[in-house]
Amino acid sequence: MSTTTAEKHEFQAEIRQLLDIVIHSLYTDHEIFVRELISNAADASEKLKFLQTSGAEIFQPDAAPKISVSTDEQAKTITFTDSGLGMTHGELIDNLGTIAHSGSKAFLEQIKAKQSDTHLIGQFGVGFYSAFMVAEKVTVFSRSHQPGEHGWIWTSDGRTGYEIEPAGELDRGTKIVLHLRDTEFAQAQTVESIIKRYSNFVPFPIELNGVVVNTVQALWTKNKSEVSDADYEEFYKYIGHDTEAPLFRLHFNADAPLSIRTLVFVPGKNLELLTMSRGEPEVNLYCRKVLIQQRAKGLMPEWLRFLRGVVDSEDLPLNISRETMQDSALMRKLNEVLTKRVLKWLDEEAKADPEKYDRFFREHGHCLKEGVANDYTHREAIAKLLRFESSHTEAGKTTSLTDYVSRMPAEQTEIYYLLAPSREAAEASPYFEVFREKKFEVLFLTHPHDEFVMDHMRTFDSKRLIAAEKADLKLEKESTGLSEDDARALAEFIKESLAERVGEVRASKRLVGSPAVVIEGDSHITTSMRRVMKMMQQREGQELPASKPDLEINPDHAMIVRLEAIRKTDAALAKDVAEQVFDNALVAAGLLEDPRAMLQRLNGLLEKLLAKDGPAAG
Ligand code: ADP
Ligand code: MG
Repeated sequence: MSTTTAEKHEFQAEIRQLLDIVIHSLYTDHEIFVRELISNAADASEKLKFLQTSGAEIFQPDAAPKISVSTDEQAKTITFTDSGLGMTHGELIDNLGTIAHSGSKAFLEQIKAKQSDTHLIGQFGVGFYSAFMVAEKVTVFSRSHQPGEHGWIWTSDGRTGYEIEPAGELDRGTKIVLHLRDTEFAQAQTVESIIKRYSNFVPFPIELNGVVVNTVQALWTKNKSEVSDADYEEFYKYIGHDTEAPLFRLHFNADAPLSIRTLVFVPGKNLELLTMSRGEPEVNLYCRKVLIQQRAKGLMPEWLRFLRGVVDSEDLPLNISRETMQDSALMRKLNEVLTKRVLKWLDEEAKADPEKYDRFFREHGHCLKEGVANDYTHREAIAKLLRFESSHTEAGKTTSLTDYVSRMPAEQTEIYYLLAPSREAAEASPYFEVFREKKFEVLFLTHPHDEFVMDHMRTFDSKRLIAAEKADLKLEKESTGLSEDDARALAEFIKESLAERVGEVRASKRLVGSPAVVIEGDSHITTSMRRVMKMMQQREGQELPASKPDLEINPDHAMIVRLEAIRKTDAALAKDVAEQVFDNALVAAGLLEDPRAMLQRLNGLLEKLLAKDGPAAG
């Protein structure tokens, strides 16, 4: 190889500019040159396979397709070798000497007529130049598959131009040597992790310094019928970093409107519940088995962040950088298609095995609730996936909103819910009394956030969602206690006694066993919501302005009836009792701030009670 035989070629000015862009700004991560060169090697091997099956005469026909990478820290080099179709002198000039001239694209055009299922990764004609992000010099040795050709050496610094000279005898294929600026990418460990990350599923063996590093198959590109449950499980454990089997899996392929191959799983556990912190999306984006973006943000809505798996789309430009990826129109389109499909899938799983679905919902339900609150477009579809206990389910069993609606009696027009610390507390709540009497179903919410979710949802199946406390319901019962006038007079008395502490006081037609109940005056806030807000604000050290709830009294309750009688003979005692009734209702709602005043009063009342019948103390 004497320098005299080397032909020099200069890059054109535009190409030099373009090269500058590729090297300095197209790719955010330098490490992706490994992905690009391996993808080229895989393409070259794929093309060779195609030529072989179509009966072309091939130089060294027995050399098996294989990709090898070797690193040399001392020499500061990394070398990529493949036994693919190689390049002739003319192809080296056309393919490597011209930016945006993709030999892969030309090859694809050629074979299109033959309806091949050959899958090539490159289509854009700039990936090769990513080598110059890390290398000050790149040397390509190539020997075409065509019999009668020669080997050639192509060399360039990626700045001014390149040289080509004869190489004498070479094996078929291409060897690319990168003379690196520093040793980072000459370290075997670093390179191994990069190959595993981006190229693990490339369908040819990739050796690193003589050892095969890609061992897992790209199951998502196979037909469902070719994959066993055990294969799926193993694959999930690998890509999901999990030791347990997944709950559900979705393997689906579509060609329109986008080409998508998807294999996603629902893990058995949601780590957010343990770590109390928000998880990251765990679905990786591939293009023809090559990783484009790990944990692809924007690929799925955030409320589906519990999913793990792979989405592969041939429509993705391989060389697009991460920043441009996230808000590309293509990404939005993918997101749209995937979200719809996943919603349908979860709904199918819920129907197929309700108990298993309940397990799913216990782990991941909070993400779906977040979706209902934040994702207006899919709100109704996500709402169908929610599950709640209700007054009509057995303890521990759940219902969907759809089933709730199907059970609604004709005279019920709204969907009711009640937030309480437990099912028992909900059933014993004064707010529940009217529903029990009317036999209207009430959803029992147990998570503090659930009420906010319901409030955001507003309607389901065109029926308003109403907090039990806000329901405008009356019991059609004969009055057994106070007359309307007496009840109104007592309400006025109580209002005067409580003064600034209370909003309105009125007689209620919704209570059965309880003497009174507090109701938030603001139509958007319930007492339970107030309690949650208070907890949150206390945690943040803020002071919430004192609430001034309304009080509803039960005119049929014996205590209320007596209170009306006694207020005319013993106003002081009646005032104490009125305050106690109010405080008791606050306690029931979990809203009593400081029990000290209440305890003092209660003690006074007890003392009076004992003094009435027993001997006086002292
Ligand atoms: P793309 O892969 O998108 O076509 P690249 O810049 O990565 O663009 O590569 C340009 C062209 O160079 C390829 O299309 C291919 O024709 C040729 N090429 C690159 N690497 C190899 C290789 N290892 N073997 C054969 N041809 C190659
Ligand atoms: Mg390429």
